[in-house]
Order: sequence, then structure tokens, then C-alpha cells
Amino acid sequence: MTGDSPSIADVLLPLALEGPYSYRIPAGLRLEPGDYVEVPLGPRSRIGVVWALKNEAPQGPKLRDVTGRFDMPAMPEAHRKFIDWLAAYYLEPPGNVLRMVLRAPGAFEGPRKQIAYRASGSVPKRMTPQRQRILEIAAEGPALRVAELAELTGASVAVVKGLIKDGALEAVELPALKPFPEPNLNGGGYRLSRDQEEAARALRALIASRTHKVTLLDGVTGSGKTEVYFEAMAAALAAGGQVLLLLPEIALTSTFIARVEARFAAEPAQWHSDLKPRERERVWRGVAAGEARIVVGARSALFLPWKKLGLIVVDEEHESAYKQEDGVAYHARDMAVLYGSIARFPVILSSATPSLETLVNVDRGRYGLVKLSDRHGRAELPEIGLIDMKAAKLEAGTWLSEPLAAAVAATLASGDQALLFLNRRGYAPLTLCRACGHRLNCPNCAASLVEHRFRRQLLCHHCGHVEAVPKQCPACGAEEKLVPVGPGIERLAEEAAARFPDARVAILSSDLSRGTLLRDAIRDVEKGEYNLVIGTQLVAKGHHFPHLTLAGVVDADLALESSDPRGGERTWALMAQVAGRAGRGEKPGRALIQTYLPEHPLMQALKKGDRDSYLGQEKLIRENAGLPPYGRLAAIIVSGGDANETERFARAIGRTAPRAEGVAVLGPAPAPIHLVRGRHRWRFLVKAGREVKIQNFLRQWLKEVKPKGSLHLAIDVDPYSFL
Ligand code: ADP
Ligand code: ZN
Repeated sequence: MTGDSPSIADVLLPLALEGPYSYRIPAGLRLEPGDYVEVPLGPRSRIGVVWALKNEAPQGPKLRDVTGRFDMPAMPEAHRKFIDWLAAYYLEPPGNVLRMVLRAPGAFEGPRKQIAYRASGSVPKRMTPQRQRILEIAAEGPALRVAELAELTGASVAVVKGLIKDGALEAVELPALKPFPEPNLNGGGYRLSRDQEEAARALRALIASRTHKVTLLDGVTGSGKTEVYFEAMAAALAAGGQVLLLLPEIALTSTFIARVEARFAAEPAQWHSDLKPRERERVWRGVAAGEARIVVGARSALFLPWKKLGLIVVDEEHESAYKQEDGVAYHARDMAVLYGSIARFPVILSSATPSLETLVNVDRGRYGLVKLSDRHGRAELPEIGLIDMKAAKLEAGTWLSEPLAAAVAATLASGDQALLFLNRRGYAPLTLCRACGHRLNCPNCAASLVEHRFRRQLLCHHCGHVEAVPKQCPACGAEEKLVPVGPGIERLAEEAAARFPDARVAILSSDLSRGTLLRDAIRDVEKGEYNLVIGTQLVAKGHHFPHLTLAGVVDADLALESSDPRGGERTWALMAQVAGRAGRGEKPGRALIQTYLPEHPLMQALKKGDRDSYLGQEKLIRENAGLPPYGRLAAIIVSGGDANETERFARAIGRTAPRAEGVAVLGPAPAPIHLVRGRHRWRFLVKAGREVKIQNFLRQWLKEVKPKGSLHLAIDVDPYSFL
């Protein structure tokens, strides 16, 4: 033993383990906390991170040796703390959080020469479906490495190697990773207006303070918030830090990236779910080395191994897309604030419709506020009109009232773009048999199947189940009796095509979402290639459509009907954001909202543009009900393959709930969607006062609970979904 250098490393592995595992450090290997290492685990070898060093081995079986250290910058202490805190906050094993950090396997293959493969064009003697798939992918895009080809196709490495041997794949040497250009801080910004300059000055002062402080940048859509926070980014870059600009995945368009590039005369790094493996590796390494100075990314960019983060900007901070629902159920905005408080840097939250949580933090003096009150230049905030649907007398199967249809026609005639917003994918949310009343439901979920007419399919929006639209009713066998009920955007598009036969219609929804399709469609709308846009909430997300002057909301009451405690706030944000798409260019815009509840305080406030009085009422309602941000919530979702067993398990857990001051446990109750993917679901809602450490309560309650067999228990701290 070498006396003073530690002999044992506690290594965190990207697995759902209680904590780090101890390994012996072999002679000659020097390790620091944060180093990336390779260690044996069972028969395999794993990549982990040194969490702590010590001299004393724990009791128990003989420790195995650390196999080696990766030659890359160690994970900084702040990042390790961030992982531990986030894990504790959401009651997750820290290894599950680390797994989100290590999502660039290529980064660990080292800078040595790398060989990738592409299809050579020669056909192998033996063809199998797996081989076929590999060759298709290899022919499609850039050359890929063996491991990537295997991962993308689900084939084994041996199958890929077989194709290399047969000559069907040919080797190419990968170029070195492209370096990151240094941003030019005096790049191509606009000349700011007086208001904007004042806001920028306040944000620059925030950066100069070099402390952790959260500031809300609050301004109507089109007021120039982006231009203003660019100034804060420039200041943080000048101070030597890295900058993360977080956006909802769908707002990460090529147009937006081009804007960042224009401002800083350098292409920023991007991080989102459809990045190619090679680019993933490049960004990951660039961030770890501190060479990628600006990253524009979706929520998971938080987990990149930041060397020296100096500022996070969370654009569209109110967006529920920041909440991840699968796996580790974290909220990226809240975790950006947490990261800032750990690593002591400022955080800017930007929105035209800030969340109530953030506004209350401003009220309490915990967050600063910088306001932009006017739209830039001539662009005015659209005038909002209400259309009373009780008076509209629509023909069956139609959804556009006369006033809205007339406004669309006039807009198209004048050469501008119009938007019709309906927050429902597909053709019709429900299909039923006119002969027997049977509804077409998903076989795996307690939900109706949604017809997607373009694809000629019925689709379950919860589990992805797909089936062909049947000719006969599956219950009574009657032919030609199945009818669609209610509208989805495809059905709305059909009505629009009939009414406006010359319109160039774009349909935007997450059905296009496999990344590029949707991004392309949005770009074409921005360029004005379509003049009638029909879309779901995706169109509300920060896009800048300069030719759009009319926004029509087809059914404003949809979101109000939900049981979500944030339903009102969300409807407000959605309506204001949709309306805000109109009139962002030279011409003024207007918005028309179809509603059966024109007297509702929310609709009235929208019409008057009176956000403060509406949100004032919402605050009161939440405060009286003890709901966030005046109280804390956590959901527990129990699920299992067998209905009775799941119910028994849920009830048994319910009986062991501890009593605690200021905490109420509601449930168990069957979840609103009580069956998903063939799994039965029960829910608890835990409500606690703001002063209560809800995590401690949950830990105490659930530490002995060990679900067996198909049973599963998931904890959702600060839930946003109540289904
Ligand atoms: P927000 O982020 O508040 O929605 P943006 O920053 O996107 O607003 O600005 C809206 C539009 O106005 C953009 O096209 C932007 O380029 C333009 N704009 C904003 N500020 C200025 C300025 N000072 N000079 C010229 N154009 C500006
Ligand atoms: Zn389903």
C-alpha cells in the first residue's frame, strides 16, 4: 500500500443501485473524485464515476480492482452534487441520474482513430431480415461504428461483423470531431430599443454579481426577450463561463439555431433527442472540456458534464414539456434553478406567460423580475375576440363558426397566414357504432382509440396500439355503421379544405414529431409556403411566424374541463401563446376564440388582456386549496398486471401511511386512466404544507415497501400529470 494516496474508490455506476460501490485502486493508478473509470460488475465491465476516495475498505467480501481510468476531464464537484441532490429530491437512486449523464457512449471510445462503416453496395451471399436492416441503415446516412449499427438495429455486434467480413459493409475512417467555434460576443445583434436596453442592463448586472439569483424575464410574445437574454449570455460568456439555453424540444428549430448563430457569429452546440451518435459524442466531449461555450438544448442538456457553467436561460419556462414523465420524473426548470444554487450562477427564466409558481416566487422576493412591456417595433399584441358557440348553430360534423370562417377567408384573401388551433391529434377522438352504441376502445388501456385517417389507422394515444379501421362493428357486425365523434385536427383540416379550397394547408402535430419532419414543416411555415396552419399545442411553442395575422382557437374549453389543478393556468398560457403567434411581423394580428363559456372569468380576462387579475384569482384558489406553490404535492402510482393484486397492494400500502403534521394522504383510488398497456393503475396524492419536507415523509413511509412480481411503485414529486 502506498501510504498517503487513497486505496479505495467509491464508484457510482449508472444503475438503480442504492449508492456507489467500493473498488480497490491498483498500484500505479492515481484517481481523483469525478474521474471516469472502468470497473468490473458481475461478468461485465462498466463505466462509472469516482464519487469518493478513502483508505479503509468496507467489511465484507474482497473488493475487485478498478480496471482503468478514462483520459478525459473529471466530472466537477458541482455536477456530482447536482446528481446527488436531484436524486434525493425525486427519491431516485443516484445511479439512475448518472445514467442520464452518460448518454453518449461514443465519448468513452477515446480520441484514437475511429473506423466506421457504410454499405458497399455488394449484396451478401446470405440475407436475413437483421442483415437487411443493418444494410438499409448503413446505406441511408453517415457511416456508423459497429456498436452504433448494432444498437440502432437491435442486432448483435457479431451480425454486423459478419457483414463486414462478407464485404457488404466497407470501412471509412471518421474525421476528427469538428472543433467548436469561439463565439463572438459583439456578433450580429440588433440595436436594442430603450426598453430592451434597460432590461439587458439589468440582466448584465445580474451576471456581473456572479451570485446565484433567479430572474424572471417577463414580456409579451414578440417583445424581444430573446434579443435581451442574448445580451445576458454574452456577458456570461465574457466572464469565462459556459452558457446553457434550454428550450422545449419542439422549439429547437433550425431557424432558432440560426438566430443564435447570427448573434454570436458561431454555430452553437445543440442537444436534443434526435442527435446523431457522433454529434452526441462531440457535444458531450466539448462540454466536458469546456470548449463548447454555448449549448442550445432540450431538458436533458442539464445533465451534460458541465465544466464551468456560468448561466442557464430557461426559455418558455411555463412549458410543461420541461417535466419528464418517464424514468426519472424531473422538472428541468426547477432543476436548472437547483443547479444554479449549487454551482452559484444566475438563472434566467423567460416567458410571455410565466407559470404561477414563478410569479409567486417573484411576489415573495425570491426571484428578481425584469419586464418588457411592448412588442418590438410596430408589432402589437393581438386583439382577442370571443365567439359564443351557443349562438353559432353549427351544422353537425363542422367546427368552424361563421365569424371565424369569415376571418380566415379574409386573412387568406389578403395574402397573410392564418392559424387554426385545436389541441387534439388525429381525425376523431372517438369512433362508435350507430347500430349498437359500441365504442372502439384500446385492448390494453382504459381509453378510446383515436382515428388517424391519413394513416387509415386507429391509434391508442397511451400505449401506441395500432389497428386498421374495421369495416364492421366488432360487437354487432353491422356494416357501415361506425361513425367518428368529435373533431381532431385532421377532421378540421377536412372542413378547412372544403371551405377554403385554395388554401395551402400545413398540419402540425406531434404525429410529425420524429424530429426532422416537424422541424421541416415549421421552417416551411415560417417561410410562408403554407398559408393555413392547423395545429395542436405544438404551434404554441415559441415559433415565430412573421406572416401570420390571425389565430383561431377552435375549442378553448377543452383544457378547462380537465381535473388538473393547473388546468386554468394552462388554458390561460395556451390561449395567450396561440394568440401571440399572430401579428409578430409588420402587420397587426388578431385572435378569435370559440368558447361555450364566454362569461368564464378566464375568457373575459383573455379578452381584456388582463393577466394580473386572472392570475390573482387563480392564486387565491390555489392558496385556499393548499395547492402548489402554496403547498407541496407528490403522487404515488401503483401498477400491476393483475387487477385484484394491484388493488390489494395499493390498499396495503395505504394502511401503512404514517401520520404526520401537515400531511394528508389521499387515496388509493383507481387512476383516471386505470388501465395502460395492460397494467392496472392506482394512485395516491400526498398533499403537504410548504414547510413540510415531503421527501422525508415519503422515504419513511415507503422504505419497507418492496413490490414483487409485476407490481411496480412510482413516485412523482411535484406531479404535472394526474392521469
Ligand atoms: P420574444 O422572444 O419576446 O417572443 P423576439 O426576441 O423573438 O421576442 O423578438 C420578436 C421579433 O422582433 C424577432 O423577429 C426579432 O428579431 C425582432 N426584434 C426584437 N428586437 C429587435 C430589435 N431591437 N431590433 C430589430 N428587431 C428586433
Ligand atoms: Zn392503449
